[in-house]
Amino acid sequence: MKRTLCNHCHFPEQTCVCNFLGEPLKNHCKIVVLQHPSEVKVAKNTVRLLSLQLSNIEVVVGESETDFAQVREQLHTSRCALLYPSESAAALSAPTEKVNRPVIETLVVLDGTWKKVHKMLMLNPWLMGLPHVSFTNLPKNQYHIRKAEQAFSLSTLEATAHFLHLYEAASPEPLYRALAGMIEQQTRLMPEHVKQRYLRDE
Ligand SMILES: [Zn+2]
Repeated sequence: MKRTLCNHCHFPEQTCVCNFLGEPLKNHCKIVVLQHPSEVKVAKNTVRLLSLQLSNIEVVVGESETDFAQVREQLHTSRCALLYPSESAAALSAPTEKVNRPVIETLVVLDGTWKKVHKMLMLNPWLMGLPHVSFTNLPKNQYHIRKAEQAFSLSTLEATAHFLHLYEAASPEPLYRALAGMIEQQTRLMPEHVKQRYLRDE
């Protein structure tokens, strides 16, 4: 059975999220998502929600250094950081704390399971050379769909929303609303046992 996609949100018509979308957030710091190819077709694609709800975002699908050569050139000229909880990461805490925080014009976010993200980092040593940022405190997980061992135990949407909330005091609510809408749409017609599995697994 071929599923028809919604023209606007590009989710299948049955699970269209358009009712849950608001005005795209005008983020100053550009978000560049490096998305692993295996994430593109995943039904729970939170990067697609980000693309719909952020005005300043670029998504580059790939895995190898060659795949990201072009975006890397563009990053070279801007002050950028990678959202990654390494030991050297600058930890962001409260939204108001502007002293001593790094200047970030572009934030690079990796989208994939923990394993795929690890592989992307192995194949792209330049990513480890970027300044890293992470969080002191994680927000309450809105989303229990993805596996817990994923970086931050958060979906890419939640991690990005939390960053924008801390870094430029943007309200994460419209992003969380879109996420909740996607979960509601995708679990609406599921029998309970399938739903539980969906909420737990990939
Ligand atoms: Zn739609």
